[in-house]
Amino acid sequence: MVNSSRMSQTDELLVNARSYESGHRDVELGPHPVRKVAVLACMDTRLNPYSLLGLTEGEAHMIRNAGGVVTDDAIRSLAISQNVLGTEEVILIQHTDCGLLGTTDTELADRVEAASGSRPDWPFHAFTDLERSVREGVGRIESSPFLPRRGSVRGFVFEVQSGRLREVA
Ligand code: ZN
Repeated sequence: MVNSSRMSQTDELLVNARSYESGHRDVELGPHPVRKVAVLACMDTRLNPYSLLGLTEGEAHMIRNAGGVVTDDAIRSLAISQNVLGTEEVILIQHTDCGLLGTTDTELADRVEAASGSRPDWPFHAFTDLERSVREGVGRIESSPFLPRRGSVRGFVFEVQSGRLREVA
């Protein structure tokens, strides 16, 4: 620990990591997801795709960003997932009460600029209609020329209050 009189959250989490290591089974998992599934989901703390879908290590790719938006970078990860590591299905999950819902790119850029002093020149992909955002995301995946497996691309809204996963696309 460097120049710190108290533990940071990261330091505390590193204690958890040591505990994880001591309990880690030496399982022979390769990098190819055994369920051949890639999940793209919002980074929200209330959405835990592993618990929600009953996934564990070795089973699926987990791609997360603010909003669970199908950005170029999400396509980049999905392209690796499908073309290099053999996944065949995509599960897209956005959720109620999302920080990107009901705001605008301009408002978010204003906030970032006010706090950091720098105005981003990239889009935030804010949205106003949750279901439409999921449907558009599914459409973006299905129309990507870089993704050969487009037969099972399904989109969902996770309701953070009820814990329900609702299929919308
Ligand atoms: Zn969110």
